[in-house]
Amino acid sequence: MAGHKTDLLVIGGGPGGYTAAFRAADLGMQVALVEMDERPGGVCLLRGCIPSKALLHAAKLILETEEAKAFGLSFERPKIDLDALRGWKDGVLSHHVGGLMDLFKRRGVRLIRGRAAFENSGVVRVEGGEVSRVEFGHAIIATGSRPATFPGLDLQSPRVMDSTSALQIAEVPKALLVVGGGYIGLELGTVYAALGSRVTVVELTDGLLPGADRDLVRPLAARVAKQFESVQLQTKVAGMREAGEGIAVTFEKDGAKTEEAFDRVLVAVGRRPNSAGLGLESTKAAVDRRGFVVVDRQQRTGDERILAVGDVAGEPMLAHKAMQEGKVAAEVLAGGRASFDAVVPAVVFTDPEIAWCGLTETEAKQKGIEVRTAKFPWAASGRASTLGRTEGVTKLLIDPETERVLGVGIVGAGAGELIAEGVLAVEMGAVAQDLALSIHPHPTLSETLGGAAQVFLGTATDLYVRRKSK
Ligand code: FAD
Ligand code: NAD
Repeated sequence: MAGHKTDLLVIGGGPGGYTAAFRAADLGMQVALVEMDERPGGVCLLRGCIPSKALLHAAKLILETEEAKAFGLSFERPKIDLDALRGWKDGVLSHHVGGLMDLFKRRGVRLIRGRAAFENSGVVRVEGGEVSRVEFGHAIIATGSRPATFPGLDLQSPRVMDSTSALQIAEVPKALLVVGGGYIGLELGTVYAALGSRVTVVELTDGLLPGADRDLVRPLAARVAKQFESVQLQTKVAGMREAGEGIAVTFEKDGAKTEEAFDRVLVAVGRRPNSAGLGLESTKAAVDRRGFVVVDRQQRTGDERILAVGDVAGEPMLAHKAMQEGKVAAEVLAGGRASFDAVVPAVVFTDPEIAWCGLTETEAKQKGIEVRTAKFPWAASGRASTLGRTEGVTKLLIDPETERVLGVGIVGAGAGELIAEGVLAVEMGAVAQDLALSIHPHPTLSETLGGAAQVFLGTATDLYVRRKSK
């Protein structure tokens, strides 16, 4: 079988890998990328961000037709053609896979099919494709992550799904159990609830989305309580077994065990880095105790010829973080001085959405960082009222000395789009005054960002707050 020689070999064709490969090619490097999947795109495009957001868009439409009753519009319950819905979602993916293939071609990046493992710090073996061995000058590991599983949650049954199989929407189960109240559990729970499933969520900790600020989670938890059948906190799944047409699940809470039957179960309890089986022991690259490849701010591993980016190189496991790291790695290899020190926003695409960037209140408390918070409640936003969505809150975390915006948190409809202004503010070192004096178009939800800054400064007129300054 054929061998191949290249300046740069990227392993993994997800957002981290293809961004690194394309940027490196643009910087003049000769680049090849090995991908074991049939199609490039990685988890994000093929079984993550994009398919889940396509389905969440459909869910939003369904939920909005129900809510429109409040303003005098009644719709029939939509007829759901699952084949057509799946076909539409798959069409979205295919469109982008086609776009990616074109970008590989135009940039002259060789796409090699197969599974790669290091033979040493300069050679990779490839299994399952037309090329069996690649010699490289440098390599970038971008092998991503996979769903985590634990004893008790690992029953092999088509009725027990992970995020990949749940996105296939084989059917709309009458009763769906979601194990894990994190990003995936809540996003896909929202999809299935909108499609008609009675959704139960069990979460190990004492709140949904552990790690996110509680005041941001509260409006979501209130809405989820109405959309879902039930949410069980501080509850553990002790075991599962096939029972007739469904799955019998044993729950453990406060030492007491109960059993309940569901038609399907979605396990969404986190993700693990794909670092095992890569032959890293034949290189000088190290992994930490959780399996993440250890990198510095330039994405360099302990092996001078190998870099790593994306989910495999540490948390947060988000596509935009992977892409930015991919660019940094390519630029570092091209001799640039790039390093990763960017603000990484987080968006949970639930209804309402939750988004944050920079410092969170939870982190400030944990680290003893003194901050002042300023909140603008969406009840005072004209735009939120016109949408019938006044439960939102926009919050700024501000340095009391310099009045610099250190963090932004938003819960509300479209928070994922609104957070972009917060990212820019934190990245550019904006002070509260910068946000307060920037005219935000009226009536838009973006006004809540300027409004929160005005609350901080005591200059808000849309709310009554005691004046702190002139
Ligand atoms: P991946 O996308 O995991 O790609 C790694 C690639 O490497 C894969 O294609 C794999 O086949 C290949 N590979 C692995 N090992 C080898 C090998 N040995 N040889 C060859 N190829 C190999 N993030 C967001 O920012 N926003 C979202 O809305 C969002 N939604 C998500 C929804 C779901 C359901 C899931 C599961 C994830 C979501 N994520 C989201 C997370 C996002 O998908 C990941 O952070 C992102 O895909 C990481 O990119 P990556 O390039 O590091 O790895
Ligand atoms: P997660 O870490 O977001 O949530 C997992 C949840 O499961 C946590 O709340 C955890 O406490 C809970 N849990 C763990 N073990 C449990 C158990 N035995 N029983 C009950 N609950 C248990 O993980 P996820 O939802 O699987 O998503 C994985 C990662 O994928 C995310 O952390 C994120 O990085 C990425 N992602 C991002 C987006 C987005 O950006 N919108 C969407 C989906 C996934």
